[in-house]
Amino acid sequence: MTVDYQELFEAAPGLLLILSPDFVIQDATDAYLFATKTRRNEVVGRGLFEVFPDNPDDPDATGVNNLRRSLMTVLETKATHQMATQKYDIRLPSEEGGGFEARYWDPINTPVLDHSGNVKLIIHRVEDVTETVTLKNAQAAYAAELDRFFNVTLDMLCISSHDGYFKRLSPAFSHVLGWQIEEMLARPYIDFVHPDDLPKTIAAVEKQIADGEPILQFENRYLHRDGSYRVLSWKSVPQEGGLMYAAARDVTDQKQMELDLRQAKADAERANQAKSEFLSRMSHELRTPMNSVLGFAQLLEMQYSDPNIIEATGAIIRGGKHLLKMIDEVLDLSRIETGQLAISLEPVVIGGVVSQAIDILKPIAEKSSITLSVEDEESCDQYVMADRQRILQVLINLLSNAIKYNRTGGSVIVRCLDAHNGNWRIEVIDTGFGIAPENHQLLFQPFQRFGDSGIDGTGLGLALSQRFMHQMGGTLTLAESSEKGSTFFMEISLTEAPSYEKMTSSPQDSSFDRWNALRGTILYIEDNLANLRLIELLFEKCEGIKLISAMQGNLGINLAEEHSPNLILLDLHLPDLDGEKVLRKLKENPKTAHIPVVILSADATKRQIKTLRQIGAVEYLTKAIDLEDLYRVLDIYLESER
Ligand code: ADP
Repeated sequence: MTVDYQELFEAAPGLLLILSPDFVIQDATDAYLFATKTRRNEVVGRGLFEVFPDNPDDPDATGVNNLRRSLMTVLETKATHQMATQKYDIRLPSEEGGGFEARYWDPINTPVLDHSGNVKLIIHRVEDVTETVTLKNAQAAYAAELDRFFNVTLDMLCISSHDGYFKRLSPAFSHVLGWQIEEMLARPYIDFVHPDDLPKTIAAVEKQIADGEPILQFENRYLHRDGSYRVLSWKSVPQEGGLMYAAARDVTDQKQMELDLRQAKADAERANQAKSEFLSRMSHELRTPMNSVLGFAQLLEMQYSDPNIIEATGAIIRGGKHLLKMIDEVLDLSRIETGQLAISLEPVVIGGVVSQAIDILKPIAEKSSITLSVEDEESCDQYVMADRQRILQVLINLLSNAIKYNRTGGSVIVRCLDAHNGNWRIEVIDTGFGIAPENHQLLFQPFQRFGDSGIDGTGLGLALSQRFMHQMGGTLTLAESSEKGSTFFMEISLTEAPSYEKMTSSPQDSSFDRWNALRGTILYIEDNLANLRLIELLFEKCEGIKLISAMQGNLGINLAEEHSPNLILLDLHLPDLDGEKVLRKLKENPKTAHIPVVILSADATKRQIKTLRQIGAVEYLTKAIDLEDLYRVLDIYLESER
């Protein structure tokens, strides 16, 4: 078989041209023609640079010159010459729109020598590297863009590598930490991490390398050039090739602010706690002398019929009760604020509370010719989960305000209705002068009083009432107020009726005769002389009562054994044994276990009262002693001749 070498050449893969020493094209492979969008008959026999000129629209084009130089070198050296990558734009045929298309080539020129060693032909071979160059250019552009981005950003951006070094850092690192970027790139980054934060930093990086998950929130301290540390908050995303892209934020000032705030809050809480404790202690100290003031005044009132004395004792009792009320309110408030106020929720029928409050306040309303009424009494026939004493206290407070801040001849209406949110609503509507809008915000803050300072009050009632309601899971709100009157309402959660309802206490009888009718022996264990004297004076006139007193616990126990009294009144603060121990001993001793013990104290907590009751105390009475309360107890445990 004869081989047609020309045919073979033209079909060969690769982009090849054969040139004469004067650069006239002798032949080209089909591949070359295809790549340059030319035809053989258009190129063969023509000068290389005539067929492939520079792109006239590209003033920077150097392809023709470079190629010419390379071919000249081949002619001179008679050796192969490899050129660097060249940009030769390809002329597009008119059917493709004409003009030039950018292309990159890697050319290599090889001489073909005749027998005498002269260059006979030159083989010009090219490789189209346009795609590679385009990709490289794009990468370079991207890198340049990244460069610009890194340099203009105000944020702290960095690329770090798993080898433990930063690869790139934005200038913000230098601004925040004071180091030159080069200094930071030259050292492992953990050199800059606070020693105490090293373990967690290493753990976080290792974890990120292990599971490839981003770190979204991480804080550590970085060394500033001046030796101080800045707190940085990091977000970092793992990349291929052992890299990490991360952004950091200097949160030092923010952290400091948070710390200061927390400190300020703790200080404020401590100060508030101290204030509450002070109030609580003060109130307690005030309560004890009030016991004497009120007790003796009540005693005098009972014993004398002289109108001057009655008037004087009346004034003492009123003033004392006001003071006592205030002390109680301050105590309650400080107990709420220190979280010590225990409430006991039980099903309470609203109607009962409403009528009790109205009974208490009716005489006061009548004095100012104010009508006090309940609208649609049946609607109050509902059970709510409340602390009976506290909800009564709140309602009394609302009603007494509605009376106090009303006009003569005005009215106060209590109305109960469904709040349609599982709560029952109790409204107190008055026809008073109202509360100015600017005071609505302050209304429930302690010691805030507005308007007529001549009206008796402490400014604590609403503050306390609202806190009581919150403690019971309810609310207290001012619904509306204008110069025609105000409406307050409380809401509290509804509940089922219990299977039984306790009976309320019997009506009062204030005459001294009933005291005189009491029979029995009472042992009073109390170390406070004034308290002792009060009780002594009270019973002095009661012929049927024999009072024995002991100012010490142990003596009290001995006297109880000896006299077997009908009732023991026991104070909690005693010099030798505390009241709880005395009670235990009395209850453990078969000779005294049966004697009812009533505790008298100014400050027992709910828990203490519960314990005392568990040990066996039958009653607990607060000081200042209300003689009515005392009578009620004596009436139960002593004989009466009435
Ligand atoms: P107090 O009545 O002891 O002053 P409160 O906390 O109960 O304390 O009330 C705070 C203040 O709100 C009162 O001093 C009074 O100025 C105003 N106020 C309360 N209730 C009413 C009302 N129903 N009408 C008008 N003003 C009221």
